[in-house]
Amino acid sequence: MLTKIDHIGIAVNDLESAMKVYGDFTLKDADHVEELDSEGVKIAFFNVGESAIELLQPTREDSPIAKFINKRGEGIHHICYGVKDLEKSMENLVKLGYKCLDEKPRNGAHNTRVAFFHPKQTLGTLIELSEKK
Ligand code: ZN
Repeated sequence: MLTKIDHIGIAVNDLESAMKVYGDFTLKDADHVEELDSEGVKIAFFNVGESAIELLQPTREDSPIAKFINKRGEGIHHICYGVKDLEKSMENLVKLGYKCLDEKPRNGAHNTRVAFFHPKQTLGTLIELSEKK
């Protein structure tokens, strides 16, 4: 059902300095930068092989990423897995008793549809499932 680790999301206070760090490690500029107003985040993607690192900086205090950083500090926020059929995957997991934070897929960065699963049931790490549009 999961096709690959699509990306790892890392919550950061300052996108510019975070991009500098990942620029130093990947020896390139970010592959994609985008602001997702609905989520209150500005993000930068660095492709690494078939996966990517997604740096997320909150753009307002009530954004989930701001809350995460206030509580736990900067660091890994979620792991995103690619799926072929998001609705079917969601339906299947909900049937198995997992709580999906989204009733319906929401729009993600990079022209995707995504849904999140609560870390309480997924060993402490928020899981994102992502389907390319
Ligand atoms: Zn993500």
